[in-house]
Amino acid sequence: MTNNSKPTKTQPNKKAVDPAMDCGSQSDKKTATTEPKCETWLSRPVPRVKRHTLPQLTAVETEPSTQCPQCHSMTTNTALIFNSYVCPHCDHHLAMTARERLADFLDQIEQELGQQFHTGDPLSFVDSKPYPQRMQQMQQKTGESEALIVFKGKLREMDVVACAFDFRFMGGSMGSVVGDRFVEAAEVALERKIPLICFAASGGARMQEGVLSLMQMARTAAAIERLRLSGVPYIVVLTNPVYGGVTASLAMLGDIHLAEPKAMIGFAGKRVIEQTVRQTLEEPFQRAEYLLEHGMIDQVVHRHQLNDTVHRLLAKLM
Ligand SMILES: [Zn+2]
Repeated sequence: MTNNSKPTKTQPNKKAVDPAMDCGSQSDKKTATTEPKCETWLSRPVPRVKRHTLPQLTAVETEPSTQCPQCHSMTTNTALIFNSYVCPHCDHHLAMTARERLADFLDQIEQELGQQFHTGDPLSFVDSKPYPQRMQQMQQKTGESEALIVFKGKLREMDVVACAFDFRFMGGSMGSVVGDRFVEAAEVALERKIPLICFAASGGARMQEGVLSLMQMARTAAAIERLRLSGVPYIVVLTNPVYGGVTASLAMLGDIHLAEPKAMIGFAGKRVIEQTVRQTLEEPFQRAEYLLEHGMIDQVVHRHQLNDTVHRLLAKLM
């Protein structure tokens, strides 16, 4: 057996020494004329300890979570559901589906109305894809058959009809079936003399149905007028966002208009108005608080107080 580890001239096995830590060895080896790099142990820099950063467990890795679009904090979906989709950190009101909205609002759900109506393709409309194909995709994505959901149920002990727009379904746009369902909701409310509540969240009329979509504005307005003549209360809750033909019809014809904080409400979008008037429109233009200040709505209500507020108002109106 031969010894392979022969000492070489360059001493490769000697480890690189930190010059700051090497005062003693240098002073031993070198002559007295060379200056020592540090005088005392007090001026000697403290050797650094390498930090080991442990991966922090975030809520995402433990449970499905949602990021707040305003404060960007993560909240578990379970916590959000219990808090009615209001951010516990900054009080931002996140979007809700129509079914979640009505389940949160009503104390008891008895019946779903308007399920007999189905969308056709009256204009054989094709944009980037045919309208029936687009509808099918939306139905698969949302699990809903149309953009408006109507329930008859109870708010506390009071019988009510409540409907809500699902913004995920083609931007909550108002087509023929949305009109049909709203009119059915109004007719049931009228027949039984029970209040109608509508949670609006829509981009406006549905262009794929052309003038048939615009006609729903008149139909829904006529149904609301019949409620008014019979003294049946109709309350609108404006949620983020409400625009276009829905603002121009059923969303602004209520006996009382409530809105959620910071909801965007208008007819034309902010950018379109800016281009037309050639002015920059500052915040809070078209926000619920701005509309309240200008007398367009009656009250801005926190989502946690909506049930109580609507019930109190209805108790007075009825
Ligand atoms: Zn937040």
